[in-house]
Amino acid sequence: MKDPFFTQTLLDWYAEYGRDLPWRRTRDPYAIWLSEIILQQTRIAQGQAYWERFMARFPNVETLAAASEDEVLRLWQGLGYYSRGRNLLAAARQIVARGGFPDTLAEIRALKGVGDYTAAAIGSIAFGLPAAVLDGNVYRVLARFYGIATPVGSTAAKKAFTELAQALLPPDRPGDFNQALMDFGALQCTPQNPQCLTCPLAARCEALRSGRTALLPVRKPAGTVQTRRFHYVYIRCRGFVAFRRRGPGDIWQGLWEPYLEEGEEVRGFPGMKCLRSGVRHQLTHRILIADFYLLECEEKPLLTEDYIWIPEAGLDNYAKPRLVEVLLESL
Ligand code: SF4
Repeated sequence: MKDPFFTQTLLDWYAEYGRDLPWRRTRDPYAIWLSEIILQQTRIAQGQAYWERFMARFPNVETLAAASEDEVLRLWQGLGYYSRGRNLLAAARQIVARGGFPDTLAEIRALKGVGDYTAAAIGSIAFGLPAAVLDGNVYRVLARFYGIATPVGSTAAKKAFTELAQALLPPDRPGDFNQALMDFGALQCTPQNPQCLTCPLAARCEALRSGRTALLPVRKPAGTVQTRRFHYVYIRCRGFVAFRRRGPGDIWQGLWEPYLEEGEEVRGFPGMKCLRSGVRHQLTHRILIADFYLLECEEKPLLTEDYIWIPEAGLDNYAKPRLVEVLLESL
């Protein structure tokens, strides 16, 4: 342990203030893996309900592996980043095919949808492997406490922070320490207004000593956000609607949507009515601005062959992105 004061103080803090979460009451690697995948880009408050729903429907990896992609995506609906849902299913099938959950870092890392962070989290929490996690909370706490000004997001930062976190990791309690560090960043050493007055690390915190809590961690300048313009036409024809499944290489792979034109102008169809225009939808690296139209017709218009006609009454059976749900709500 490189810094017994830091490590022990955090573990003590965690014992008293750590969050009581259902996946922390188990060593079942399946339950822990599921929580880590759900929480990759989702807040705990929202993710917990999804975790409970998944555990109720798929109590073990075998039941999940046997599910259809549509069913998994339907249960995933609302969480966004649907590639995570697809990877979840693919990884469940990998686990079943190899005869059980892997217990080495390299094999956990080889599961679909598992990167360095998730592999370290699962490995340390479920199997006690000595692997430090690195997320936004960990960067912030370490940058402040040790006064490190290397811009987060750079390769140099990743290397330096990984080495530091790894050195601080207590070999007998790696999982607790990783979770302690993340909780501490989420609850005590928060991005804005860290609770320095009540902080057990305050006596030796470099950011507090030098008045730099608001300046650390240093961030790389953000990239530009791309804007895309979507025009959805909900085409209803004798109880059927035209939908297609989105393909690979773009957002929302595998989800279903009505007729779409993308670009500044919409060609559309004669007789279509505008339902809403300028609906903003924020994704991580892009903003979508969408217009919704309704076309009611007796004759099915000719569409490209990726669109199929599905019964409007059965639309619930198709997993759809949130933006399409908003369209359906405005009908
Ligand atoms: S003293 Fe403040 S900045 Fe330093 S670790 Fe504690 S909460 Fe974070």
